[in-house]
Amino acid sequence: MNARRRRRLADLGFFALLGLIALLTWAGLTYHSVRLEDQVRKTRQQLAQRDVSHLNAYLGQLLQNVDLSLKSLLDAGHQVYSPAAWTTQLDYALRNAPYLRSISVINDSGSVIASTTADNVGMVPDLTDYLPHTRTVTAMLRIGSAHAGRDLASGTATSDARSATPDLGFIPVIRGINQGDGGSLTLLATLNMDYLLRILDDFQTNPSDRISLLRQDGSRLLDTAPIDDAQLREEQALVGRWRAGEYNTTQTSDGADQTRLLTSSMLNTRLPIAVASFTDLDQVLTEAKAESRNQALIVLPLVLLGIGGVLAGYLFFRRAGLHERALRRETEARQRLLESALNASANAVVITGTDATIEWVNPAFGALTGFSTADALGRKPKELVNSGQQTAAYYESLWNTILKGQVWRGELVNRRKDGSLYDEAITITPIRNTDGRISHFVAVKEEITARKAAQAELEGAHARLQTVVDSFPGAVVMEDTEGRITLLNERVFGLLGIPRGDQYGVGQPMEELTFAAGMQTADEAGFVARLDALRAAGTSTFGEEIQLKDERWLERDFVPIRSGERLLGYLRIYHDVTPRKKHEQALSLLASTDPLTGTLNRRTFLDKVELELARIQRYSRPGALVMLDLDHFKQVNDEHGHAAGDAVLKHFVDVVSDTLRDTDTLGRLGGEEFGILLPETSSQRAVELCERIRLRIQDTSITKEDGSMIRVTVSIGVTSLHAAGGNAEQALARADDQLYRAKNQGRNRVAHSDLA
Ligand code: GH3
Ligand code: MG
Ligand code: MG
Repeated sequence: MNARRRRRLADLGFFALLGLIALLTWAGLTYHSVRLEDQVRKTRQQLAQRDVSHLNAYLGQLLQNVDLSLKSLLDAGHQVYSPAAWTTQLDYALRNAPYLRSISVINDSGSVIASTTADNVGMVPDLTDYLPHTRTVTAMLRIGSAHAGRDLASGTATSDARSATPDLGFIPVIRGINQGDGGSLTLLATLNMDYLLRILDDFQTNPSDRISLLRQDGSRLLDTAPIDDAQLREEQALVGRWRAGEYNTTQTSDGADQTRLLTSSMLNTRLPIAVASFTDLDQVLTEAKAESRNQALIVLPLVLLGIGGVLAGYLFFRRAGLHERALRRETEARQRLLESALNASANAVVITGTDATIEWVNPAFGALTGFSTADALGRKPKELVNSGQQTAAYYESLWNTILKGQVWRGELVNRRKDGSLYDEAITITPIRNTDGRISHFVAVKEEITARKAAQAELEGAHARLQTVVDSFPGAVVMEDTEGRITLLNERVFGLLGIPRGDQYGVGQPMEELTFAAGMQTADEAGFVARLDALRAAGTSTFGEEIQLKDERWLERDFVPIRSGERLLGYLRIYHDVTPRKKHEQALSLLASTDPLTGTLNRRTFLDKVELELARIQRYSRPGALVMLDLDHFKQVNDEHGHAAGDAVLKHFVDVVSDTLRDTDTLGRLGGEEFGILLPETSSQRAVELCERIRLRIQDTSITKEDGSMIRVTVSIGVTSLHAAGGNAEQALARADDQLYRAKNQGRNRVAHSDLA
C-alpha cells in the first residue's frame, strides 16, 4: 500500500468518524426531543389530573358545606319560622357562605315565602329540571340548569348545553325535607358563579386548559372557555361513561388540529356536579418542541464548533504531515543527488567517524586504492593504505589540525592493495553536527603520482636549463608576458654592471632590471625604448650593439619565446664584444688614415668632402677646400735624407693641425700633398687661415740630430665649395689648379680662384 493510498484511507476514516459524530449528535438530539415531549406530555397529564382531582375535592367540600348549611337551616326552622324569621335566618346563613348568591325558602305549594333576595318572594320556580344525583338518593342537593341573569326572577336558564356559561349568573340547588311529603319545605340556594370561576381559575395550572362544571346529565353549568363541537361530543361520551359508573376518566383524542386530553372526575355519588378538563397537549408539545429546538440550537453550534475544531486540527496536522513528507522527500532527493555527485566524482571521497573508522567511500576510492567498499567500511585508512613514508609527526600535525575543526590539506604517499605506492593530494574537512561537535571527517583524495612525476621532470628540465644558462658565456635573462623574470644567470650582474639584489630575482618585475641595466648604458632612454619596441614587434633581433658608460660594448640578442602559436615571453642575451669592437675600431682607423702622419688618407678625405658637399647642397652653407704642396721637397730628401723628409712631413702636419679648428679636416692626398676641408668658411676666411699656415711653416724649422736646421715653405691653392660646384674630385681639381698657380707664381704663397 503506497503512502498516497494510506493517506486517502486515513482521510476517509476521519471524515467517516466526523459523519458518525454528527449522526450521533443528531440522533441524541432527536431522542432528547422525543423524551422531552414525552415527559412534558406526562407531566401535563399528571398536572391536569391533579388539578381536576383537587378541584373535585374542593367542590365536594363546598357542596357538602352548602348541603350541611341548608340541612341545618331546614332542621332548625321547618314549620317554625315565620317568613320574617326565615329571612333573618337566611341572611345569616348567606353571610357565612360566600359561595352562595341567594337562599330562598319554598313552601309545599311551590311559592317562595322568604328569600335573601326580596324580589324572589312570591315567585313559583319551576323545580322540574332539578335532577337528583341518582334516583335512589333524594335527601341531597339537587341541581338545576345554570341561569343567566342576576336572580331567579330575571335570570334565564341556559338550556343550550353548548352556549357559553353566563358571565354573571348562578347555579341553583335545592334541598328539601320530606321530599314528596305535603307541607314540606324546600330551600333554593344559588351558587355564585363569580366565586366558582375564581375557584376554577385558582385550580387551573395551565391557563390554556379548559375546565368545565357539568351536571350529572351532561348539562353545562360553568366553563372557563367556549367549547367546540369536537369537545362537546367528547363531553357527551364522557357523560355516558359516568352513567356506566366510570367516574374518573382520562382520555386522549387526536383531533385534526390538536391532541386533547380530557380528564374528568365526578364528585361522589351524593353530589350533583362533575368536573371535566380539556388540556391541549399539542400546545405543550409545541412548547416542548420549541424547548428542545432551543436546546438543539445551543448544542448544535457547540457540536458543529467542536467538529469544525477537530476538522481544522485534522487538516492542520494533515497539512503539516504533508509538508513534512514533502520536506523529507526533498531532503532525501538532495541526499541522493549529493551521493550521486560524490559517487560520480573522479576524486576518491572517504567519510570517517571521529575515530577515523570509515563509514562511506565512493567508487573512485576503490579505483584509487584497490580496496573495495566492503574492504573499507569499518576499517581505518591507516590499516589500509599506510605506506610508512610519512613520519609520525606529520600525522600528528594532521590530527591536531582537523581535531581543532580546521581543514587540513597535504600530500601523502600511500600504498595500494597490490602494494604499489602512489602520491595523493588530500583535503580533510571536519564536519560538525547540529550541536557544533565534530561528528565526521570527509577526505577528498586525488592521485597526483603522474603530476608529481611531471613536476619532478619539469624541475629536472629547469635545472638543466639553469645549468646551461649559468654556463653560457653571456648574460641571459628571460621574462614572461606579464613582465616577470622567469630565468636569469649570474652574468647578468657582472656584464650589465648591476649590483646583485633580490629585486632582480626570478618572479620579480623585469622592468626593475631593465631600468638598472639602462643606467649603465651610454643611451639610457634609447636602451629602454628599444626594448619596448622589440617587445611590441615580437620578432627576433640579433647582435644589437650597446655602448656602456664604462667604454665597454655589449651585443644583444632579443628572442620572443613561443610554444606553437602561444607567446610565453622573451629571451635576452648579452655578450661582451668590447675586444672585437676595439679591434674593429683600430682596423677602421688604419684603413682611413695615413700611417706616417696619422691624418686621413686620400680616399677617406674625399669621402668627407663628399659628405660636406651633400650638406652644403642641402642647406646652402658656405665651405672651402684647400690643397697644399711643400716646395722643393725633393731637395730636402736629397740634402737631408729620406728620414729627415719624413720628419719634416710630420712637423708640417703638427703645425697645420695646431692651426686648424676642431671642425676642420686635414688629409694627406699623396707624397707631400695635403688637403684641408673647411666647413662653414667663406673664401676670405679660408685665405686668411691658409696665409697663417703658410707663415707658420715658413717661420718654423726642424732641428736635425747633427744640429743643422731644415726649413721648408708651402704653396697653397684654395677653392670655394658650393652647391653647383660638382663633386669632390672636381672641387679638388679646382684647388689643384690654384696650387699650380701658386707654384707658378713663385711658390710659398696662397692662390684662390675667387680672389685671383
Ligand atoms: P716643387 O716645388 O715643384 O713641388 O718641387 P719638388 O721638389 O717638391 O717636386 P716634386 O713634387 O716633383 O717632388 C716630390 C718629391 O717628394 C719626390 C719624392 O722624392 C719626395 N717624396 C715623396 N713622398 C716622400 C716621402 O714620403 N718621404 C720623403 N722623404 N720624400 C718623399
Ligand atoms: Mg713639392
Ligand atoms: Mg709634390
